[in-house]
Amino acid sequence: MVKRCRGCLRVALVYPAPYGAAVASLAYQNMYYLLNSLDYVYAERFVASSTAGAEPVPRSLETGSLLRDFDLIVASISYELDYVTLARILHAAGIPFLREERNKEHPLVVLGGPVPSMNPVVALGAGDLVAVGEAEPLLPLLVEKAYEHGARGVVEELACRPGFLAPGCGAVDKALVHDLDNVFHSVAQFRVPGSGEPWGEAYMVEASRGCPHMCRFCMEAHFLLPTRHRSYEKLRGLIERGVEANGVSRVAFYALSFFDHPAADRLLEYLEGEGLEASIGSLRADMLSEDRVELLARLGQRVLTVAPETLSPRLCRGIGKCMSRGLVEEVAGWAWARRMHVKLYLMLGLPGETDRDVEGYADALRELSKKAPPMREAIRVTLNPLVPKPHTPMQFHRLIDRASYERRVRILRRAQSKVLSIEPLSYRYAYAQTVVARGDEKIARIIDEWARRGGRLGQLWSTARSLGVNLDHYTYEAPEPKWHRLVRLSIPPSTLIEAYKYSVKTVEE
Ligand code: SF4
Repeated sequence: MVKRCRGCLRVALVYPAPYGAAVASLAYQNMYYLLNSLDYVYAERFVASSTAGAEPVPRSLETGSLLRDFDLIVASISYELDYVTLARILHAAGIPFLREERNKEHPLVVLGGPVPSMNPVVALGAGDLVAVGEAEPLLPLLVEKAYEHGARGVVEELACRPGFLAPGCGAVDKALVHDLDNVFHSVAQFRVPGSGEPWGEAYMVEASRGCPHMCRFCMEAHFLLPTRHRSYEKLRGLIERGVEANGVSRVAFYALSFFDHPAADRLLEYLEGEGLEASIGSLRADMLSEDRVELLARLGQRVLTVAPETLSPRLCRGIGKCMSRGLVEEVAGWAWARRMHVKLYLMLGLPGETDRDVEGYADALRELSKKAPPMREAIRVTLNPLVPKPHTPMQFHRLIDRASYERRVRILRRAQSKVLSIEPLSYRYAYAQTVVARGDEKIARIIDEWARRGGRLGQLWSTARSLGVNLDHYTYEAPEPKWHRLVRLSIPPSTLIEAYKYSVKTVEE
């Protein structure tokens, strides 16, 4: 889209990852079209060319304009390591990543998204303003004030008001959408033509925000509290227009727990009646029934993803998410009967976890494999360490150590077979995520230097050594939760502390 707009505020909307990831981000799509729906704003997209190494001089996708020529740079950080990519993009544009190194000749940098909202301490090292909370109430206010007062004046106007942090502010409330039916949602969406991305070329629509289950490790549920749903009528209207505008016949629903939507079945039946297909990401096993799996199969879903996280009836109490082995087997059976693959997510490093628990998982997976049809990768198990996230009860939890993680991965690998694959997430990646998630001002400086060196994962440790920072402090010790001084969420810190103590106690053997 090339919008002609004289005298408009020029906003560079940066997604710090390659284009394919930006396309699949419904939040980014919505921000882009929301900004361009305002007649005094002209927003252009910037993405990374790669996930590491030197970036070329960043140019906008629309007009090839240079990043430094914009009034305002807005970047959304969805994953912790996106900060490093953002720093690489800014450096390539000749714009310092660290706020204190920029001057008034540089564009104003505003950071937002779930990661800066849950721990703004790192973000404040880089952003002139940090937007805390959901984009819909924050973005229009930000650009309106920037248009009226100039990009520099906006900091004075908005700093320390609800949803906006700048250095020196006390705690601000998270900005929140109260009624999803009355906020902007994109209809036309950009994509990678012919690539099948995202979701096999689908119209992406957000059905719900938040999740009522509030598992104790889940940052998304804690960030998006309270749970809200778009109405059936609103969703139907969006889908009708979205599939037509994008020339697609598939709808990808975005929701943390889709079947908690009160009209979930009705929505899927509507799609079927219209001859459309559906894609839904991870589903809670206890919200499924054979009828629902059947409906999903008829709508073209080929993989059923469930995340029990643990197969231990003891450990599940500690994270507040219990899916019994019997339930997982039953759901897998429904999926296999419809030639669907089953994807399971398990986490390692839960409170109270021992090798013996993980041996129990391996036994359970072997039993499950015996029931699987002779289909290659009938079960795909993805393993990852529990990454402690701010503003959740697990924020105080120690990251599992590398030796234990790798030993437990080996235990589970022994359960591999033709029908069952085990895919572990890299330990170093989870370690780096934890460092940034629970990071502070020092981590902002590390990100800056790490990006200068190329931003490769392995370069984190040499960078930290050269700056004299002990990374283990952020992973194996519980760093002070400074984020509580900056962001007020609806769950008080004392409740999180009590919930974590309960987690530890409830798993004691
Ligand atoms: S069910 Fe899933 S999305 Fe909901 S709180 Fe638990 S982990 Fe988060």
